[in-house]
Amino acid sequence: MSSADEYSDDEIDYYDEDDEGMLVDDDESASEMELDNFSEGASKKKIYEVDYESLSQAEVEKQMKSDVDSITSIFGVAEDVAPLLLRHFDWNKEKLIEKYMDNAATVSVAAGIAPPEKAPRRPAASGGRLHSSSQSSKESLIGPRRSSRRTASAATKSSKSKVLERVTPQVHNESFVCPICFDDTQTEFLSLVCDHKFCKSCWAAYIESKVKTEAESWIACMAEDCDVVAPDNFVKQVLTGDQRTWERFHELLVRHYVSHRPDLKYCPYPSCTYTVSCSITRASLATQVPIVTCGNSTTHKFCFGCNIDSDHRPVICAVAKMWLQKCHDDSETANWIKSNTKECSKCQSTIEKNGGCNHMTCKKCKYEFCWVCMGPWSEHGTSWYNCNRYDEKASKDARDAQSRSRASLERYLHYYNRWANHEQSKKLSVELYAKTEKKMEEMQMTSELSWIEVQFMKKAVDEVIKCRTTLMWTYGMAYYLESGNEKELYEDNQRDLERAVEDLSELIESPLDPEVIKTLRQKVTDRTVYVTKRNEIVLEDTARGFLEGRWAWNVPVAGLD
Ligand SMILES: [Zn+2]
Ligand SMILES: [Zn+2]
Ligand SMILES: [Zn+2]
Ligand SMILES: [Zn+2]
Ligand SMILES: [Zn+2]
Ligand SMILES: [Zn+2]
Repeated sequence: MSSADEYSDDEIDYYDEDDEGMLVDDDESASEMELDNFSEGASKKKIYEVDYESLSQAEVEKQMKSDVDSITSIFGVAEDVAPLLLRHFDWNKEKLIEKYMDNAATVSVAAGIAPPEKAPRRPAASGGRLHSSSQSSKESLIGPRRSSRRTASAATKSSKSKVLERVTPQVHNESFVCPICFDDTQTEFLSLVCDHKFCKSCWAAYIESKVKTEAESWIACMAEDCDVVAPDNFVKQVLTGDQRTWERFHELLVRHYVSHRPDLKYCPYPSCTYTVSCSITRASLATQVPIVTCGNSTTHKFCFGCNIDSDHRPVICAVAKMWLQKCHDDSETANWIKSNTKECSKCQSTIEKNGGCNHMTCKKCKYEFCWVCMGPWSEHGTSWYNCNRYDEKASKDARDAQSRSRASLERYLHYYNRWANHEQSKKLSVELYAKTEKKMEEMQMTSELSWIEVQFMKKAVDEVIKCRTTLMWTYGMAYYLESGNEKELYEDNQRDLERAVEDLSELIESPLDPEVIKTLRQKVTDRTVYVTKRNEIVLEDTARGFLEGRWAWNVPVAGLD
């Protein structure tokens, strides 16, 4: 099957109507194929998704080169010159064009293309069509950036070449001694447009230290007080025979480019070289969560709008950041909750959680309870399941009995506890995958199902983990939501998803009964479809709420009025 449209709407309606009762019909409803369709029919952009493009390193370099080429042709400058100009202006083409038009000579000096005395005669200034007439115009336009760069390069230079004086350019090779190493056996000397000559091995050592130690691609001349910068070709020439440093230099150039382009962001996953291009604006971060995936791996998910390197939908960046900060600040108090063990509320024996499912059974007294709220499990299967909602009345009572701060801590712990629980379950996913794979092998042996046919188990685990991420963040958001109708509806959706996830989680973690593998397959598949759908509802409705300005907050949120 190829299209999501082939997924029968009737199936969804069936689950909608049957919402409060049992979720599963053993005999019919969704098949595996439909499950595939449901989760992969994502070709159309959803309300909670943003437009973006993943770029390989080569594609980024191509884009960078095309920026360079356009400046080369607009200014009519040498190919080596345009990259330095662009880098000096942090790849802001418009600003470069404006300033260069205004005063090409000043810009050329500031960009390290020419020493001051040569500036007016440099090809950068005179070779192009853009003749400068206002040489006297203010230097200040490039002032601040300049001075900070100077300090950095001055520090390295002073250690390297304190003795260095300006070298007279007309000295010939035979009688020339490198002013840094004074090694008279050196025969190869190189200089930038400033004519400050040094031997090739001094250049190489200098550039290598800049590139490798300082991660610097802006390489100024070694002569004291000289601000001329080495163009790429010069660096390449010096580094012949040192491919590694050259590659690192090149990588730094690309990094500089990506980090200064507001529409580009590196994939934050270790040693991934992909870049994502997304043109979301600052302002739209108040209503949208730009979660992107790099083209290298579907697991490389991150937020384009903030530094959180995971999918924090449905919560916008500002609220997500606030929540993480809160959890970080309060981690001392909350630490005990994170612990993997709890005591049975009946017999007090210690119980360890070893899977994602919240349905706990005490090994000693067989008491069944919910890991999160410690309430009896029997209440969780009924329609008045109420594990997700913080009981405002109970909290009021608590306030009466105890201090105010105690109540606010309890309120926080209510949300934190549920947040941390899903996080903990997610962390156990490695074990869950391993256990599931064993189960899948077992299924194959005890039934006539093929390896492909038992994949429904893995898909169920994938979905459970994905939905736990959503659930985690919904608690972070709920903490800051002002109580009222909207919050109640939000929590209804949250509860429905949570219940669906826990149901599915319990099902896939229960021991395998070879007698009922066929029914199990149907059940798991159906519940997975249902969970997927509940997750969509939470993501879509929350996203819509942001766009409609429906959410009210109990604290001021940065970027929102
Ligand atoms: Zn030397
Ligand atoms: Zn120089
Ligand atoms: Zn990546
Ligand atoms: Zn974000
Ligand atoms: Zn017990
Ligand atoms: Zn509970």
